[in-house]
Formats: sequence, C-alpha cells, structure tokens
Amino acid sequence: PRATPSFRFDNSYARDLPGFYVPWKPAQVPAARLLFLNEPLADELGLDPAALLGEQGAAIFAGNTLPEGAEPIAQAYAGHQFGGFSPQLGDGRALLLGEVIDRQGRRRDVAFKGSGRTPFSRGGDGKAAVGPMLREVLVSEGMHALGIPTTRALAVAGTGEPVYREQVLPGAVLTRVASSHLRVGTFEFFSSRQDFEKLRQLAEYAIARHDPDLAGHPGRYLELLRRVSQRQAALVAQWMNVGFIHGVMNTDNMTISGETIDYGPCAFMEAYDPRAVFSSIDHNGRYAYGNQPPIAQWNLARLAEALLPLMVEGESEEAADRAVADATAVIEAFPGLFQAALLRGLRAKLGLSEGSDDAADATLANDWLGLLKEQRVDFTLGWRKLADAAAGDEASLQSVFSEAQPLQQWLARWRARCESEGTASSEARAERMRRVNPWIIPRNHQVEEALKAASAHDDLGPFERLLCALRHPYEEKAENALYAEPAPAAVTACYQTF
Ligand code: AMP
Ligand code: MG
Ligand code: MG
Repeated sequence: PRATPSFRFDNSYARDLPGFYVPWKPAQVPAARLLFLNEPLADELGLDPAALLGEQGAAIFAGNTLPEGAEPIAQAYAGHQFGGFSPQLGDGRALLLGEVIDRQGRRRDVAFKGSGRTPFSRGGDGKAAVGPMLREVLVSEGMHALGIPTTRALAVAGTGEPVYREQVLPGAVLTRVASSHLRVGTFEFFSSRQDFEKLRQLAEYAIARHDPDLAGHPGRYLELLRRVSQRQAALVAQWMNVGFIHGVMNTDNMTISGETIDYGPCAFMEAYDPRAVFSSIDHNGRYAYGNQPPIAQWNLARLAEALLPLMVEGESEEAADRAVADATAVIEAFPGLFQAALLRGLRAKLGLSEGSDDAADATLANDWLGLLKEQRVDFTLGWRKLADAAAGDEASLQSVFSEAQPLQQWLARWRARCESEGTASSEARAERMRRVNPWIIPRNHQVEEALKAASAHDDLGPFERLLCALRHPYEEKAENALYAEPAPAAVTACYQTF
C-alpha cells in the first residue's frame, strides 16, 4: 500500500475486549513540539514521514490532535513488582491509541507514554520528561539495530510543560510501537480476580495475535505458556550476549510477544560483572545482570499460575494435578531452553559454527567470560577485539587485558577449537564475528551526555549523532570511534539509573 499521512487503524483490542480497559483521552499540552520522528519506522507503518514532520506531527505526537481512527484506551494489568503482587497497575501514564497493520501485514500497537493521568495513575502525575523519553529512543533503537526484539520509538514530542521530579524537567510524550502490549501482568489481572471468562478471552486473543497456529488446538493454553517461555528464553539470551540489564523485570514489564519493553532503569554493562546493577531502586540486586535468567523463569511461573485455571480440563482432581504437572514441566524446561539459546549466541560470538560438544564449548565460553571478569575487561570491546585476534591482530585484543598469560592460555584453546572446524579462513571467521559482536552499544556516559544537551541546552545534535551511530552497531567507522570508547572507570563505578 502507498504511504499516507494518516494511520490506518484497526483496533482489535478496543473492539474485541470490552472490560479490559478504560476509554480515555490524552491530556492537552500548551506547546507541542516534535523532537524526534523515526522516519524508517513511520515508513514501515505505511505513514508518510514528510506529512508528520511539521506542526501536524507535533500536535499528533504531543496528544493535542487525535489522529483519525484512534480510540485511545488505558489498559488494565496487574503485576509482581520486586516479588510482591500488585493486583492493579494498568496504564498510569500510557494510552493505546490503536493498532496499525504495517506494510508487511503485521499488527502493531501504537501507544503514548507520558500523555497524562488515567484512572490507573494512583499517586503519579501521568507525565514523562524529555530526558527519559529520548533515552528510551536511544536504547530501544540501539537494541533493534542489534537484532534484539523490542518495542520501538516512533516519535517524541515536547509538551512545553514542566514535570516535577527531584528537579523540574521539561515534559514530553513518547509514541511507542509494539507487536502488542500484552504482559504477564495482563493475565495476572484477570486471574487474580478469578474472572476466568475474561482470562479465557484474553488467552484466545493472545493466541490469535501471537500464535495463530495454536487457535482451536486442544492443549493451546499450555502451548501458549510454552511459546512465551521459548520467546523469553531467546530474548534473555540475547540480552545476556550484549550485556543488557533490563533493570526492572517485574511481571508487568514482561511481554507475551517476546519483545523487550519498558526502558526505565535499563543500562548496558561495561566491565563484565554478573552482579552489575545500575538501578538505584534495586537495592538487593534482584534484577542484576546475572539474575536475569532465573528472574525470567520466576516470571514465567507467575504466568503459569495465572493460566492454570484454563489448563484444567474437567472437574476431577486428576485433571487439576495433570495441569499442574504439565505447567511445571514447561517452567522446569526454561533453564535448558535458555542455556541452548545462550550457547547458540556464544558460539557465534566465538566465531564457531554449531558444534557437537555443548559442554566443551560452554566451558570454553565460560572461561573466556571468567577472564573478562577477572581483568575487568569491557564486555563489548573484549568480544569485538576477539574478532581482531581471529584475523591475526592479537595486539588489539591484548590492549584491553591487563595480564597476558591467562589470555594467551585461553587463546591457544580457542584457536585449537576454531581449527577443529577447519573450514573458514581466518578473515572470513573474523568477518562473521564482527557481524555478531557489536562495536557500538548505547554506552551510559554517551547517552547521558546526549540527554543533557537535549534537556538542559535544547541541543538535539548529540542525540541525533549518537542515534545515527547506534543504528550501525557492527560497522567500524572512523567518525564513530568516540562512541566505542568505554567510560572512564570512575564514571562507570557510580553510574545510576532511575
Ligand atoms: P513501571 O515501573 O514503569 O513498569 O510502572 C509501574 C506502574 O506505575 C504502571 O502502572 C505505570 O503506568 C505506573 N506509572 C509509572 N510512572 C507513572 C507516572 N508518572 N504517573 C502515573 N503512573 C505511573
Ligand atoms: Mg512498566
Ligand atoms: Mg516504566
């Protein structure tokens, strides 16, 4: 279809799931101004970016003018936050405008974040500030360029309104695109109220949207759990392999689609450390880098509990026991799925093809990670420079290690393993490795600098340049060298998000 200036909405959530949301309107803002428009994404959605760049776009993306066909709703959901259950969270500062079928036929949610209070706001102001919304753009677009499933940022509009946090900040609205906003917490909302009719409707909706091949299948609710588990295993493995720390893996922030969602206190790790935590509200390190796989499993167990009433077929005790056993088996399979996905990624990062000895390759990879940890090597550069070593440039790799001996010992083992494959030339191997080991990630100090320029000095130049670099994470271009540099150690040591 041809590009048009308007969204072609088809709002299945609003249409099919009454009682799952509250119809609501975005707040009017005094001075709408477009700060960012994701033109390639607009094009994917069948929109004409040129038609959205002017005042029309500012008015739409700040929430002042509703695009034709939008039916804004605040979605209900619950969630386990830091382990404790909140029966009602919901869109407290977000609104789903509707869904668009994109150029490839995929149904995509278009939602606001920061568009004012809703019936789910509790004590919150419903607003968002320019800095955190531009931060979501940088990190989520960076994740997308790394090939990691994620919600996308379509636009950010300034509101001209102050937002009161520890300081007074300029306000903004982010427009987010997602393959859906169904969360583990959406299921928990209806299950905890024992509204099993709505729970079933929700499961059918999720299946139709994300796993249509399961529709009508007898064991489909268990299979839905298995699919979500598979998607989350693959997703978290990808996070681990780029050093991404989500920071707030509450069940309301875990999607059914398998996309990364809710870029709040997230950050990329620099020096490799499984205990790495950046979020100031995560006092116990529940969501530390190395805890992400078991937390994902814990969240999936909450999804299993929520779905369980649908899985029991019949009234008998045996039927109930069978459902529990089946769901438990799916949850217990998660670590194996995760390890397999992780190892697949690690092999590629090591420049290896699929091997037959999983245990030996996992040990090789773990010993490498052990070296990175002991010598506090920058995670991204360590991996990237391993590709240089594959191409014969060992000095480049050695430069990020403080000690030569342990590295040399490990390299000898790695070389032997590479040679056991015997196929690729060293240059071909290095090239393959450079397609999976990024050179550029959203580094915290670079992100902060870009946000400071935008927020305090109204200068979007640094944001735009960083975004441009993040869109080509695997290419070594001289003009991007600055973005590949780790932060000075002192800066990293005290970096905090949220
Ligand atoms: P999060 O920690 O971002 O996953 O958000 C948890 C809950 O708090 C969700 O129900 C959000 O909608 C709500 N929330 C977060 N920030 C605000 C805010 N500024 N105003 C109202 N609700 C908010
Ligand atoms: Mg959230
Ligand atoms: Mg959030």
